[in-house]
Amino acid sequence: MDHAATTYAAPEVVAEMLPYFSEKFGNPSSVYNIGQENKTAVDAARAKVAAAINAEPNEIYFTAGGSESDNWALKGVAFANSRKGKHIITTAIEHHAILHAGEWLQSQGFEVTYLPVDKFGVVSVTDVEKAIRPDTILISVMYANNEVGTIQPIKEIGSIAKAHNIYFHTDAVQAVGHVPIDVKAEHIDMLSLSGHKFYGPKGVGALYIKKGVRIQNLIHGGAQESKHRAGTENVPGIVGLGVAIERAVQKMPVEAPRLARMRDRLTAELLKIPASHLNGHPTQRLPNNVNITFEYIEGEGILLLLNMFGICASTGSACNSASLEPSHVLTAMGVPHEISHGSVRLTVGERNTDEDVKYVLEKLPEIIHKLRSMSPLTPKELK
Ligand SMILES: *Cc1c(COP(=O)(O)O)cnc(C)c1O
Repeated sequence: MDHAATTYAAPEVVAEMLPYFSEKFGNPSSVYNIGQENKTAVDAARAKVAAAINAEPNEIYFTAGGSESDNWALKGVAFANSRKGKHIITTAIEHHAILHAGEWLQSQGFEVTYLPVDKFGVVSVTDVEKAIRPDTILISVMYANNEVGTIQPIKEIGSIAKAHNIYFHTDAVQAVGHVPIDVKAEHIDMLSLSGHKFYGPKGVGALYIKKGVRIQNLIHGGAQESKHRAGTENVPGIVGLGVAIERAVQKMPVEAPRLARMRDRLTAELLKIPASHLNGHPTQRLPNNVNITFEYIEGEGILLLLNMFGICASTGSACNSASLEPSHVLTAMGVPHEISHGSVRLTVGERNTDEDVKYVLEKLPEIIHKLRSMSPLTPKELK
């Protein structure tokens, strides 16, 4: 129940990757056959990634994952366009790969506007337009939030960016393979994606860069990726990414509604627990995401007890679980700190069944009740 943190690599994905470790191990830059065979495999994967988001193959650049893609988009556009301006617009609820890259750019003389969100975690399209200045060079708004699942009005934001001649990047790491994406129809200039969020391998992702976008390189070295991203290609990973994205898009019409049914059943049943609230948008959300706050208790405690029953869940983002800071996403949505601490995120995936949902619905209410009965904060009538 924590597929937003990561997914396993699907067996058919791993099967396609395996030959590229020891047997077909050539370097795609070598002229001899096993080298060229690898170049062909990388190009085939590039075509699959492009097809999944309606881009052209030569607009796909492989990276080491979502974090690298996000860093490249922000830093690359910032440094390539700093003569036009030094202002970037993003949101307060981005993944830390965007937020911390933005903070670093601020230390380098760039200005970053972090747009607020409403109580559902939605960015206002009007706010985006109002934030635009003559020196704005980039708008970066995530496609779907990793903690609360809210999907942003990407096409509308893309249209505004286009009308103002400003580049538009979206961190679509949670969305790719889960909801349909069309970079052309949605006016997206750059898009980050990552293999391990849709049953592909970890440590491999891509940045889509629309032809003509002015962007500096992040990784300097050899001439790989049309001279835009140096380093010998992670061929097994890239092959796996290609198979996984094609597979996810093929499965989506059946799998997304199945996940949404499990999501909706979990949500409806868990909201019957008193003093519980759904976080995120009630309908404009990822098909697999449930995020609920239970007042008077700590999310960490809920996770530990769930774990004792073999249920894996999260309080928000996996990256945050080591810190006891309240979630920046819930804070931006106006959830008070004392309440946001009691939040749990359940993200269903391919191997989850109705039986799993039933099991969670047996255990979680008991856990909430147990923790509340021990918490000094709980009002008498809920103990
Ligand atoms: C997981 C995630 C990332 C980071 O991707 P990695 O491949 O783990 O580096 C970035 N953005 C979002 C929204 C994510 O969910």
